[in-house]
Amino acid sequence: MASLAAIKIDAFEFARDGRVLGGTISLAEFHRLSDVLLEVGGEIQVKVAGHCDDDRKSWLQLECSGSLVLKCQRCLESMRHTVRFNNRLQLKEGDANAVDWSDHDIDEDEFDIIPASQPWLLKDLVEDELILQLPVSPMHGSCALPNADTSNHKLSPFSVLAKLKKH
Ligand SMILES: [Zn+2]
Repeated sequence: MASLAAIKIDAFEFARDGRVLGGTISLAEFHRLSDVLLEVGGEIQVKVAGHCDDDRKSWLQLECSGSLVLKCQRCLESMRHTVRFNNRLQLKEGDANAVDWSDHDIDEDEFDIIPASQPWLLKDLVEDELILQLPVSPMHGSCALPNADTSNHKLSPFSVLAKLKKH
């Protein structure tokens, strides 16, 4: 599939024209994510579709899936984290600071509002949404602190797998 890493879009135009783009973005492109990724091999599958509704509101539908390798915050070993989301994003005029959040309850609405008066790189949008999806404190379902005496504990299949995957 085509790489979308260098694609810049004017989101309002994209929505008005009802465009659709599909492809991949290499994880190595996400510089802000690089702090939390143990491995930057692999890629994210991305599909973005624009549309305008009857109220003349502009929307992007952003669908992403992929697999990230994060560091478990308990045993400090690697853990694979699957991301899969399909987000509705409503486009707003103005920059990020100008977005009026006051009438937007983030917990209850099923869509996000993003500033879109400037064209931006699609990968920046994907990275923003990926960051929002990441667990605050990623941990294996069952594992032990590093250097802890594990002789009394059964190792979980996950931590065994994580150790194998490191090599
Ligand atoms: Zn762990």
